[in-house]
Amino acid sequence: MHEIVTRFAPSPTGNLHIGGIRTALINYIITNKIRSLNSNSKFFLRIEDTDKLRSKEEFTKNIIDGLKWMNINWDNNIIYQSKNIERHKEIAIKLLKEKAAYKCACSKEDLEKRRKNNINLKRLCIDCENNNEIQSLNKNYCIRIKIPSENEIEINDLIQGKIKVKNKELDNFIILREDSTPTYMLSVVVDDHDMRINTIIRGDDHLNNTFRQIHIYKSLNWPIPKYAHLPLIHGQDGNKLSKRHGAVNINEFKNHGYLPQAIINNLILLGWSPKKEDEIIELNEILEKFEIKDLSKSASIFDYNKLNFFNNIYIQKSENYDYCINFIINNENFKDISNFPKSKIIEIFDAYKDKVKFLYEFLDIFEIYKDKFSNNYEKTFEDNINK
Ligand code: GLU
Repeated sequence: MHEIVTRFAPSPTGNLHIGGIRTALINYIITNKIRSLNSNSKFFLRIEDTDKLRSKEEFTKNIIDGLKWMNINWDNNIIYQSKNIERHKEIAIKLLKEKAAYKCACSKEDLEKRRKNNINLKRLCIDCENNNEIQSLNKNYCIRIKIPSENEIEINDLIQGKIKVKNKELDNFIILREDSTPTYMLSVVVDDHDMRINTIIRGDDHLNNTFRQIHIYKSLNWPIPKYAHLPLIHGQDGNKLSKRHGAVNINEFKNHGYLPQAIINNLILLGWSPKKEDEIIELNEILEKFEIKDLSKSASIFDYNKLNFFNNIYIQKSENYDYCINFIINNENFKDISNFPKSKIIEIFDAYKDKVKFLYEFLDIFEIYKDKFSNNYEKTFEDNINK
């Protein structure tokens, strides 16, 4: 069995959201399944922090803390894409020298005009390539990759199957901007190659980029990785999952008192079935049974009721006991109960744990007991749990 080398490559331009957690989780699972057969397998975390304006350290921290909280552990050190910019530039220049790329001096206005006039929409810049004057410029140009007009490109996606795109539908996209910064399209290929990533598992919003990126691999004669594009997650109304549907980012889940195992259980069932009645499946069993080829191609619906159901089950599991008690005791929203005796907190947790969907619900439960500790606790407890 060949080793598998995967990566999760989030941009720190926002908090870790449920779609990102799922992408990281599936990379982690697939790598660790194969790791047991080939120990050279690796799962890397690469922070794609090249967008200086939108990348923020607080988001990087949120992503790292979130993955740690979920127990989605990566190998070796975190890779920061911004450290590799010189290497990305070097490759752009190499492509230029080898005439697989060319200098483009089209002005924004010209491009816009051609776009508006719908002239050869996919091939807005074609003249620069053959213009010697432009090719000998020393400044004010960007570098575009050359995509042939003939033929097509085909991928055999591990989830989506065979997909073809005609080369003439792809534009000669920019790999190095006029200010000499590499674009995402170039950086991602160079880093994936240098990190020896052989399987790219990511959201299917990147499917269109894949055909472009393959052209870079081909121009450089680099081995092309396998691809698996995960269908998006929708809310129950069929729209892309967003804040409107409920919690979407890792902090919200954590602060509500969802347990990582419940989130994993719920996420892995999106587009996949372990073919067992109760659908309760923990990581060990997932590692045994999950196969990427069995994932559905269509978008799946994130069901908060189902997540709540799983969370209740995992709250009741004895191995999560300490986590739950600590959540209540250490959560700053629960500070009103800091004077409760720990034994009573445990007693209340035990009495209610089969009813709560997430740990934050204990806030309302403790409200009942708040003023009753000096007197009347026993009676209030008896009355309430027998309700
Ligand atoms: N940084 C990209 C993103 O956050 C992902 C790149 C990739 O997986 O190829 O969408």
